[in-house]
Amino acid sequence: MLATVKPVSISRQAQSAEIVSARQPRMPIVVAPGDGIGPEIMSAVLRIIEVAGARLDVRSIEVGEKVYRQGVISGIDPGAWAALRERRVLLKGPITTPQGGGYKSLNVTLRKTLGLYANVRPCTAYSPCVPTLHPALNVVIIRENEEDLYAGIEHRQTDDVYQCLKLISRPGCERIIRYAFEFCKVNHRRKLSCFTKDNIMKMTDGLFHQVFMEIAAEYPEIVTEHQIVDIGAARLATRPQDFDVIVMPNLYGDILSDVAAEMTGSVGLAGSANIGDHGALFEAIHGSAPDIAGQDKANPSGLLLAAVMMLHHIGQHQAAGRAHRAWLKTLEDGICTPDIARPGRTVAGTTRFANEVIARIGREPNVLLARSMALPPVVAAKQSAAHASRRTFAEKEMVGVDVFLHFRDGNAETIATRLQNIDLDGFTLLMIINRGVKVWPNGAPETFCVDHWRCRFMIGNSRDQTDHAAILVLLSRVAAAGFDFIKTENLYTFDGEAGYSLGQGQ
Ligand code: NAD
Repeated sequence: MLATVKPVSISRQAQSAEIVSARQPRMPIVVAPGDGIGPEIMSAVLRIIEVAGARLDVRSIEVGEKVYRQGVISGIDPGAWAALRERRVLLKGPITTPQGGGYKSLNVTLRKTLGLYANVRPCTAYSPCVPTLHPALNVVIIRENEEDLYAGIEHRQTDDVYQCLKLISRPGCERIIRYAFEFCKVNHRRKLSCFTKDNIMKMTDGLFHQVFMEIAAEYPEIVTEHQIVDIGAARLATRPQDFDVIVMPNLYGDILSDVAAEMTGSVGLAGSANIGDHGALFEAIHGSAPDIAGQDKANPSGLLLAAVMMLHHIGQHQAAGRAHRAWLKTLEDGICTPDIARPGRTVAGTTRFANEVIARIGREPNVLLARSMALPPVVAAKQSAAHASRRTFAEKEMVGVDVFLHFRDGNAETIATRLQNIDLDGFTLLMIINRGVKVWPNGAPETFCVDHWRCRFMIGNSRDQTDHAAILVLLSRVAAAGFDFIKTENLYTFDGEAGYSLGQGQ
């Protein structure tokens, strides 16, 4: 059952909306109120959307802090997973992740386990009703949600060096980029920008950019551009009117969507949708705000806009539109929560703000536009078919190996001399690299080195091909010479093209 509706005056149109929608079947969803301000804003949002005509069969689950404290390090128990698997749509309040203790971020777990690859974050200014430096801001950030540095593959390798692997896959790029183009189509957005850092990460970010250009060719009606993420971010912060929809790999999208949300006037104003082939999760972008929890001060708007996207996602467009427009009308009438207060406005707590929105259901805003928050259908089928038909397997040839050493007792010259004194079984030591800079042969004396050395061995004149067995022989000789090898990366060519970076400083 939805939360009890507090007595407020409801407009006549809203009453008739309820009568019409009462004939529709209720859609099963899962609701997780979350921690901190979560229960307050969730209760406010459920009351608003119910009066707006949402037809929901709500199952409430407990996730987050209480579950963590019971010793479940993921923050979610098997019963809650079962409800999610059955219902596949989750409206979630913010979660507090306890520090230390090996607790895992529930948000990351939910996104990855449910395969929610697309994170859609609309960031819109509500000027003149909400103060902002950027009244023309109306940007949707579409963030890849599963890959990149968020794969969570981290290792400590030496005394000095820690590693986090950045993984970007072609299918991962294809589905997020296609989703972004479909989002533009469904919402009549004219331009899609892509931000990457492919001037530096030529292979990983380069793949994202390459796939963007390939898929752009299928959507000639949409204007496209690519920007290096640093200048793109600077322009987004200063000239947001130049942007419409932006698609990005995970880390850049995470950071820049918070920046864009805050530019609208408050982090409390932005909602977000996490979409996958098998489920969808809707939440505000802000956290559990423990500093104001339990004080009836929190702005429920971000979660409300997330709920509006959820209603569109499950086909309840009319209820979504009514809730959205009533909320805009409330802002226009000068009612606001403390985070966006300014002189001349009526400041309302969470409960009263929700009541004011409910009282305006059925009324239309005069100034503010209810921008389309529709989500495209997941494009997996189309994408996989296209992918399968295009997919060809490259001619893959092993041409060498990078061997990473933990070495404390000298410099690149010491390592090179010792390695060249052993029988390398047909391999040649081509170079030694430290933190991405070639330091042997012909290294620069100024280069600062740590205890983490990458030795690149290529097949030499006495061997015309290599294989795993040859690499194992090489490694056993390197280890026998007293070196601590900490990892290897095989070097391959794909259709004759190097599948590895050539190293800086060459
Ligand atoms: P936060 O977003 O909770 O709070 C940052 C600031 O914004 C605080 O001053 C807070 O009072 C204010 N604020 C946030 N939401 C507001 C709202 N709706 N109305 C009015 N003011 C609001 O960020 P934080 O303090 O860094 O994180 C607190 C906790 O939330 C942490 O445990 C963090 O891990 C978690 N978190 C969860 C999510 C999520 O569940 N999706 C997202 C971010 C952070």
